[in-house]
Amino acid sequence: MMGDAEAFTRDFLPLFRAVPPARPGVCRICHSGPNDRVDGRPWPICASCKRTTERLTGHTEHVVPISLTIKDTQLYDVLVRRREPAIGTARRNRLDFLAATLTHFFREHAACLQGLAGGPFTTVATIPSTRTERPIEAFHYMEKVIGKVGAWARLHRPLLLQAVDAYAPVLAARDSHPAAFRVLGDRGQGDRVQGDGVRGDGVQGARVLLVDDLFVSGAHVQSAASALIGRGARAVVALVIARLVNPASTDPYSAGIWQESGDRRFGFDRCCVCDRDRDHPAARQPVRRARG
Ligand SMILES: [Zn+2]
Ligand SMILES: [Zn+2]
Repeated sequence: MMGDAEAFTRDFLPLFRAVPPARPGVCRICHSGPNDRVDGRPWPICASCKRTTERLTGHTEHVVPISLTIKDTQLYDVLVRRREPAIGTARRNRLDFLAATLTHFFREHAACLQGLAGGPFTTVATIPSTRTERPIEAFHYMEKVIGKVGAWARLHRPLLLQAVDAYAPVLAARDSHPAAFRVLGDRGQGDRVQGDGVRGDGVQGARVLLVDDLFVSGAHVQSAASALIGRGARAVVALVIARLVNPASTDPYSAGIWQESGDRRFGFDRCCVCDRDRDHPAARQPVRRARG
C-alpha cells in the first residue's frame, strides 16, 4: 500500500490546506500562530512560539506542518477524534491514511526538511502522549503510523522519549518545560534500553526528525526538542501533520492566514519551505489582514 502513497492520498486532497511560507505575519517557526503585538503590526514569531521557546535552553526553529487546520474539519476529526477519512464513497483506514500522508510528503520534501537539519536525518522519533491527554489510548498511535512509513524503517526509534507525568499539567496549559520528556537510555540515568538499539547516547550528534500529529501551541514539540538538544542532538526538525489555527481570533493575521490558505492550491508538490524559495510574489509580502 505504502508503495503508492500518491494514489492513496489523491482523493483526499480536499482535507488539506496549504501552509504559508514564513514572512512578516507568518511565524518563522510554526508558519501560523496568533499575534500578540499591541501595535497590531505583523510579527516574526507568533505569541505561542514565543511563550513555548523563551524559557528553554534549546528549541527547534523549524516546524514544518503539512497542512493548516481549524477545529471541526475532517482532518481535525481524523487526527483528534480518531475518525476514518471518507470522501464520497472513498474511505481509508485512519492509520494507513496518516502513514500515506507522511510517506507522500517526505518523498516530495525530504530535501526541504534535510536542508533545515543541515544534513540527512539519523533518527525519526515521535512525541509520546502525556497523562492528561488521550486517556483512553493504550498506545501512542503515531508510533504505529511512523512504523508504516518505509523510508523511516531504519531511523525510527520508538522508545527515544518518555513523558514525565509530573509535567503533564504544564504541557496541558500550553507551556513548555525542558524536563517534560526524558530521553531514554541516557548515560547516567541508569535506564539504558538493551537489545533494541535504542540508546540515549545515540542522540549525541543526531539529526532528529520529530514527527507529531497536531501542533497547537508547540508545548509538546518544543519540550521534546529541548530534551533531545539537551542530550546532544545536533539538529531537531519537527514535521507535523497539521498546525491548528484559530480564525476566530481577534488577531486579524490569524484569520488572514486561514483565508489565504483557502485561496492557495494545496498539493503535495509544494510545502512551506520550498514555497519560500520559489519566486512567489505572495511570499514576498506580509500576510493580508482579514477583512471584517
Ligand atoms: Zn509560531
Ligand atoms: Zn518542500
